[in-house]
Amino acid sequence: MSAGGAEAFASAFRYLGIDARVVPDGDERTYERAARYTSGDECLPARVTIGDFLKVIEQPGFDPSRTAFFMPTAGGPCRFGQYSPFMRQVLDNLGYEDVLVVSPTSADGYRGLGGNARPLLRLGWWGLVASDALRKLLHVFRPYETEPGAADRAHEAALRDFCETMADRSVPFSGKLDQLVGSMERARDLFRAVPADFSRETMLIGVVGEIYCRLDTFSNEDLIRRLEPFGAQAWLSDITEWVHYTDRENVKNLRRRGRTVSVDMFAALVKSRIQHGDERRLLAPVKGEFAGVEEPHDIGEVLELGEPYLPWTGALGEMALSVGKAVYLHRKGADGIIDISPFTCMNGIVSEAIYPRLAADLGGIPIRSFYFDGTQTDLENDLGIFMELVRNYNRKKTRRRAMRAAV
Ligand code: SF4
Repeated sequence: MSAGGAEAFASAFRYLGIDARVVPDGDERTYERAARYTSGDECLPARVTIGDFLKVIEQPGFDPSRTAFFMPTAGGPCRFGQYSPFMRQVLDNLGYEDVLVVSPTSADGYRGLGGNARPLLRLGWWGLVASDALRKLLHVFRPYETEPGAADRAHEAALRDFCETMADRSVPFSGKLDQLVGSMERARDLFRAVPADFSRETMLIGVVGEIYCRLDTFSNEDLIRRLEPFGAQAWLSDITEWVHYTDRENVKNLRRRGRTVSVDMFAALVKSRIQHGDERRLLAPVKGEFAGVEEPHDIGEVLELGEPYLPWTGALGEMALSVGKAVYLHRKGADGIIDISPFTCMNGIVSEAIYPRLAADLGGIPIRSFYFDGTQTDLENDLGIFMELVRNYNRKKTRRRAMRAAV
């Protein structure tokens, strides 16, 4: 989850009376702590999350009997399902058998969340939608700001406002969405007040890849912030696309199992409908700011675009989304595409194998995979070379992007 998404999710917990806090930001100690309990073969997100959890244990006043770590889990083809058992093992080895690892999973309807499951899932969804939108506003405004730091300050203020609004227990659940829509209106006004020059020329760079690494600025060495000085505007794939994708997979699997007419199918369709409706309401105040970088109406559109390269009926997970989204971004006039993945990530490896054919079919659009393993790389140099390719492609490309009106 992104830092903003985690903040919003923790606020949703607090609204329900649970004292939730986000783990400390990643730093050198994160890798240093993780290295004591990992072999180096683990995926980078596993090392970062374990390192950050261990930093929590070292905080003054840490009380094992009053602490639980929240680490959702999932089945599926890759190693994500191992994170939670691994965390459990590390805690047990350290003598913290009392510390809970709460690992809800979609496979059992999130029963692990107990009676809070329903409100938490809906509040959490609002938090994800809003934090995605606020980050996207940051990426839309920051490349054009004329006062350095103004867009970051607007983002911080808007996220703080949203989280405080979310955690405000004076408003009943029935009025919470309206209250949060008000926060999104204030967020729009904060960003509109950022001094900006939208007549500046930028290259539009789509960013896809493994969810954790592409969203966690610590893990990806703040790639987008370092890309912008080269004259780039980034369009980062958000986390809500993953939720829409898993909803769609759920429906697909129910059909496959012959349960097209069933209570579970009815529940899945109602849930999806409510999620889409809530999303529209929350995003209504900021929708106008996303001219030229509109998300697809339906995640099925992304999957269909990737179908000739990686059929989504057989290839599961982020790889299907990354490949399909790359085609979608090209259609929206992107000048280049970056895939951010952890080193040895199977999703990243499969996608990278497909990108050369994809690029050839899409008029030579530059597509570059960046892998991260927690060691320093010469990122600036690589980004500079990539942006040279991007500018060359921009001069000859035929699909132009829709630009936001200069103000
Ligand atoms: S998506 Fe990649 S990084 Fe994430 S758990 Fe799976 S293999 Fe590891």
